[in-house]
Amino acid sequence: MNYDAIFETAVAALKAEKRYRVFADLERIAGRFPHAIWRRGAEARDIVVWCSNDYLGMGQHPAVVGAMVAAAQTMGAGAGGTRNISGTNHPLVELEAELADLHGKEAALTFTSGFVSNEAAISTIARILPNCLIVSDELNHASMIEGIRRSGCEKKVFRHNDLAHLEEILAAAGKDRAKLIAFESVYSMDGDVAPIAAIADLADQYGALTYIDEVHAVGMYGPRGGGICDREGLMHRIDVIEGTLAKAFGALGGYITGKASLIDAVRSYAPGFIFTTALPPAVAAAATASIRHLKASSAERKAHQRQANRAKAVLAAAGLPVMPSETHIVPVLVADPDLCKRASDMLLEEHGIYIQPINYPTVPRGTERLRITPTPFHDDVLIAKLRDSLVSVWKALGLPLSGPTQVTSAEEPEVPVTRVALTRSGG
Ligand code: PLP
Repeated sequence: MNYDAIFETAVAALKAEKRYRVFADLERIAGRFPHAIWRRGAEARDIVVWCSNDYLGMGQHPAVVGAMVAAAQTMGAGAGGTRNISGTNHPLVELEAELADLHGKEAALTFTSGFVSNEAAISTIARILPNCLIVSDELNHASMIEGIRRSGCEKKVFRHNDLAHLEEILAAAGKDRAKLIAFESVYSMDGDVAPIAAIADLADQYGALTYIDEVHAVGMYGPRGGGICDREGLMHRIDVIEGTLAKAFGALGGYITGKASLIDAVRSYAPGFIFTTALPPAVAAAATASIRHLKASSAERKAHQRQANRAKAVLAAAGLPVMPSETHIVPVLVADPDLCKRASDMLLEEHGIYIQPINYPTVPRGTERLRITPTPFHDDVLIAKLRDSLVSVWKALGLPLSGPTQVTSAEEPEVPVTRVALTRSGG
């Protein structure tokens, strides 16, 4: 058998569909976020990253970097094994206590990524529950879908954020059957938000457990950064709150929080938790420092919302097709995979702006887009440069620009901000 040819054919199929992924070779510069060095062969250029999920720039915050360095110096680089074999590094004990407190839950459990936490927790919870029916929002992330698959349980998919459809499925299953409703708070490609209170009401009415993915909300919403459930006073109404330490918290890892009995069951049964090396102490210490900082400080959240709203308003006013988004995510529609890739390439090569193209299967075909994620460190000057660069690329590619429009929810501030006064490491 010609194994090489089979792999090459598989990749060629992606190239033919214009959805072969290319990742820029980037080097982040601590203290100059969102600037980075883009390397291509012998060339090294200073560029601005507009698609990072280090949403608040915490990956370079001095308290976070300092905690990581201090833990590595005192405890070393690796975790030394699975918790099953080597015990738990103390920084992980502290981190889990911090996470349980963040979400107002009895207990928390950390995993090596948000992906692993969803895959391991959903599959384990559903397998433990007798004859469990998993009821899943149609736009749930791949990691939740993997968890659902691995559980081997029956699943029913409800139309995105459609409460009537969800109720229909719950009612048909009957009150006595175990049911797990799996959904997200912020859907990361469109930036819309789930009707969490209404889903919790239905869960109460039909006797279902609720599992929410707050990956794109933790750190960024709520008075202490507990996510959309925190913002809406709903944390106590959701059974399992899942999150990541890798996006707004700027480190690495994933977690679930919930009742002690459920967390202990996942800890005891989930292969994705038991049979893999734990997070290193330095990563845990960095995450804890970040969570603690964001529990006490809302400055990053306020600046984040301000810059995201400003970016939406400025781009829409220039006639760019900004898709509706209720959150910090700013999707700009291209609606063609080839043009989306070309727009991304032109932005990087001609304007020093990095925005990864988002094509199928991450989003449905025909809705290919540039997904822009402003942070508190994308100041008004950078936003103006982004607008001018996008307009120039749109014109060069013959993409449609509408007449100037107003995004009413995103008022333009009277005084332009050229430098956001937040702490960065190294400068
Ligand atoms: N859940 C959602 C909704 C995501 O978008 C992602 C993406 O990265 C994950 C989970 C996985 O989180 P992590 O990057 O920590 O693995």
